[in-house]
Amino acid sequence: MQLIARNGSEYIRAYLETAESWTRVQGLSKSGKLLMCCCDHPAKATRSPRGLRHFAHMPGSACSVGSQESEAHLRLKIEALTVAHELGFDAIAEYDRGTIRPDVEVVQRGTKKNVAIEIQLSRQTGYTTNERTSARAAQNLDTVWFFGNKRDFDDAPKDQRHVYPVRLPSGDIEFQIDVLRKKLSAFLRGVIVFDDLSNLAKVPFTVIGYDFPCGGCGRDWYRTSYAGLYPNRIRGDLHPVAVPLASLGDPAEALKTLAERTGKATGRVAPGGMGLLCPHCGTAPEAEFITPEVALRAPARNISGHRDMRRFSGLKPGWWWRRNPVADEHWSDAEWAAVIEQGINAIKTERQRIAREKRLAEERRRMEAERAEAIRSATAAELSLLTEMLDPHLGAPGTQAWLDRANDILGEKTPRAVVQQHVWASHSLPPVAHSAATALAIRMLDGSERLTEEQCGLPKKNLKQLRKSRRQTTASPASSSSLKRAWEGLCRLMFG
Ligand SMILES: [Zn+2]
Ligand SMILES: [Zn+2]
Repeated sequence: MQLIARNGSEYIRAYLETAESWTRVQGLSKSGKLLMCCCDHPAKATRSPRGLRHFAHMPGSACSVGSQESEAHLRLKIEALTVAHELGFDAIAEYDRGTIRPDVEVVQRGTKKNVAIEIQLSRQTGYTTNERTSARAAQNLDTVWFFGNKRDFDDAPKDQRHVYPVRLPSGDIEFQIDVLRKKLSAFLRGVIVFDDLSNLAKVPFTVIGYDFPCGGCGRDWYRTSYAGLYPNRIRGDLHPVAVPLASLGDPAEALKTLAERTGKATGRVAPGGMGLLCPHCGTAPEAEFITPEVALRAPARNISGHRDMRRFSGLKPGWWWRRNPVADEHWSDAEWAAVIEQGINAIKTERQRIAREKRLAEERRRMEAERAEAIRSATAAELSLLTEMLDPHLGAPGTQAWLDRANDILGEKTPRAVVQQHVWASHSLPPVAHSAATALAIRMLDGSERLTEEQCGLPKKNLKQLRKSRRQTTASPASSSSLKRAWEGLCRLMFG
């Protein structure tokens, strides 16, 4: 089955003939003037069982060109021609280029190379595909393959600009025609393009930060754990991603630039390069409470520069459906400020709790020190009294010997031990440093038990107020693994 035959120097294209003009072609065929383009053997103008006009070798030919081509092949070929023509391209079927004869050749505008479109329904090894593709490339043609066999498609290269393989679904020819139309049209319109990732070489990024009150010196500094990368502004199939600032190469340099531009006190890079410290006193901040998802919502009005994302992206060169860039979404200044305020309030509440515990521990240490001193001096006082009482009668050595000799009356203990035990017993401390009132206040603030009005000793109104205040200051998305997750997010860039 072929679509072109020749009458002298006139080329006749079966797919362009009408019902009337086909009668003339059949006349030429009967008179023996019509020749096959492949071998100049007389051509027969005929129709397939479904009525597709085409040419075949008259009986007696040994030429095998086109003999493998089924009606499905012919219909797909005509569909390829139709799609190209509809889009305004010059296209020709079975154009003989000497060593090759592409099913359809599409003439590209400008400097773009012409495209050979090949319908391959019968089996073809990967080796043959490469050979035939190379033969087309040698004639300055790119090749679009439509494979009817999955294995042939799997074997074909997917990472080369000059060859675009497409898999046709098996079975229903109407469905195959549909897929060919959709893919070829997208290819010719430039919607499916070869992506060499060069567009990811300059991805805009911004440094995300907020004013953070240092827990060490109390002064504010501009905490910038994340950078936001916005590949979505370049390609619609990629999402923005928040990454640890340190992963952008030289964080110290970025922070210096940021400080110069914003006038803010930016953080100091911690030894080892990961994490930031207070630039005033070097105190490490609490775990970052901003998650990567939240970071990307920061009002990003200042794009700080561009970064090459190719080595992070995990993408490989290949064919993709181009999607137009999409806008990233940000919160308003007020919404962002509210989130930051909530996080910082939670940190402040936690600092108060830690400070409270520290004060109580100090109080207990002080009491224990006082007690030890009291025991020491009381013991010394009583022993001194005993010595004063007995020395004049027993002499100093005698008194000391008595003090250290076990005594029946004292229950097999020495007088010195008995004095010590007595003093210890009379200086016992309460089991905790603080009173039950303080313990109750701690339970009320802790919030892990739901205490009643009576248990708290609070009017209902005040109890409600306490619960509300506690929620506001402790609810927090704090997560020490935020940065780790940011890093993982970067390593597996999500697709749209
Ligand atoms: Zn032939
Ligand atoms: Zn500080």
